[in-house]
Amino acid sequence: MNLIEVVSKFRTETDCLDYLESVRWPSGLCCIKCGEMNVYKFTTNATTRQRTNKKGETRTVVVPSRRLYECKAPKCGYQFSATTGTVFHDSHLSLIKWFMAVGLIVKAKKGMSALQVARHLNMESSYKTVWYLCHRIRKAMKDGGLLTGIVEVDETYLTPKKPRKGKPYVKKEKRDVVLGMIERGGKLRLVPMGDSKMETIEPIMEEHISPDATLQTDESPVYVIIGKRRFPGRHRTINHSVSYGQGDIHTNTVENAFSLLKRGVYGTFHKVSIKHLGRYCEEFSFRFNRRESQKQLFDATLKGLAKESNLPFKTLIASK
Ligand SMILES: [Zn+2]
Repeated sequence: MNLIEVVSKFRTETDCLDYLESVRWPSGLCCIKCGEMNVYKFTTNATTRQRTNKKGETRTVVVPSRRLYECKAPKCGYQFSATTGTVFHDSHLSLIKWFMAVGLIVKAKKGMSALQVARHLNMESSYKTVWYLCHRIRKAMKDGGLLTGIVEVDETYLTPKKPRKGKPYVKKEKRDVVLGMIERGGKLRLVPMGDSKMETIEPIMEEHISPDATLQTDESPVYVIIGKRRFPGRHRTINHSVSYGQGDIHTNTVENAFSLLKRGVYGTFHKVSIKHLGRYCEEFSFRFNRRESQKQLFDATLKGLAKESNLPFKTLIASK
C-alpha cells in the first residue's frame, strides 16, 4: 500500500475506525474485558463543553462524536472503543496521521527518519511528537517464532573498519555488531550485540533458530564450535578465502540483508543511536520479511499497533 492508497482509503476517522475494528476483531466484535460476543454499537453526539483556564478565561471546546461499544453481558456492561487499550488511545494525533505515518514507514525500503516523516505530515514544528510516533510504530514491527530449514548466520560490523574521511578510528571492540540469521527463502532476524564472542552469539542463536535447522555459516571458529554443539551433522561452512559460494553452500542471502541494513543506517539515519539500534533492526527485518506485499506489511504493522500497549515516552528515552 503506497501513500496515495493510504490517503484515499482512509479519508475520515470513521474509515480508520472501521479498519481498526476489522484488524482487532477479525472473527467478530467481542468485549475486551469478558469476551462476550453480544456487543451493542452506538455513536455519541458531538457536544460542546465550557473550559475555564487558570486565568479565569472561559472557552468552548468541541467534543467530537465517538463510536463506542457496550458489552451486553449481564454482569459486565463495559464500554470501550476500537482504540481502547491500544497505542492510539491516549494519542493526541488523529488516526489519519497515524495511518499515514505507518504508510510512509512501511513503504520506505531503507527506512525513514522522523524528520522526513514530519515533513511529509506537515508537522515539522512538532518533531518530538513525530519522533515518538515513529518509535511506537517501529516497536509494533516485531516478528516472533523460530527459524527453520537452512538458516544462514553471520555477523556484521555497522561501524566501518577503515575510518571514513574526517572520522576517528574505532577499535573493533567498540564497533556495533549485528547478528543476522535468515531462513533460505524465508524469514530474517537481526539482533544487535555488544560483541561477537561465542558467549554472546550462542544464546541469541538458541533463542531464534529451531534446534532441527541446518546451519550455514562461514568457517569462523565460533560457528564451528556452536555448529558441533547444537547442530551436529547439520552444519555447512563456506571458506570465504577460497570462494563465496559452491552451489547452495553460501551465506549470500544474509550478506544481501546486511547491505540493505547498512544502506539504511548510513544513508537514512546517518548515525543510529546505540540504544535504539535493536528497534531499527527489528523494523528492517519486519519490512524485509514482507517485501513481497505492501498490503500485508501495512496490515501487520497496524495489527501490531492495535495490540501493543503504549510505550510511554519516559520508558523510551530511558531504555538502554
Ligand atoms: Zn464484557
